[in-house]
Amino acid sequence: MAAIHSDSSCIFCKIIKGDIPSFKLFDSDKTYAFLDIGPLSKGHCLVIPKYHGKTLQDIPDEHLGEILVVVKKLATATGSTNYNVLQNNGRIAHQVVDHVHFHMIPKPNEEEGLGVGWPTKSADMEELKKYCEEVKSKM
Ligand code: AMP
Ligand code: ZN
Repeated sequence: MAAIHSDSSCIFCKIIKGDIPSFKLFDSDKTYAFLDIGPLSKGHCLVIPKYHGKTLQDIPDEHLGEILVVVKKLATATGSTNYNVLQNNGRIAHQVVDHVHFHMIPKPNEEEGLGVGWPTKSADMEELKKYCEEVKSKM
């Protein structure tokens, strides 16, 4: 198993270590889940890799494999049929805590849960095609 990378100043690393309390929902060798203390709705929880990293690209693949499985378990356990899974990277993308985390946010009604702005633009199909090829070539 790869070594767990930790940051002593990180609030979520402290939660994983048990140095600050959390309402723990799941705990395995690579993954930890707990209730969000500033919930957007009842059941709002966070699933994190135990490996410390700020954004998704900082986390090795082998530390991400269980995350969505746990998100799915939590959606089921909270009785959520309408919900959003959210993972913010970077300040302008609303990331506040610099340890990768996936939100599972139940959407029980219009008022509670995640509100999303979705400012779509119409796309030029030729440009999309070119861009698709460009991105694919870098993967
Ligand atoms: P983000 O904006 O994606 O970085 O979200 C950070 C989330 O962490 C917010 O929803 C906070 O309410 C939550 N949070 C911060 N500190 C704690 C904590 N000690 N325990 C549980 N959730 C926390
Ligand atoms: Zn951390």
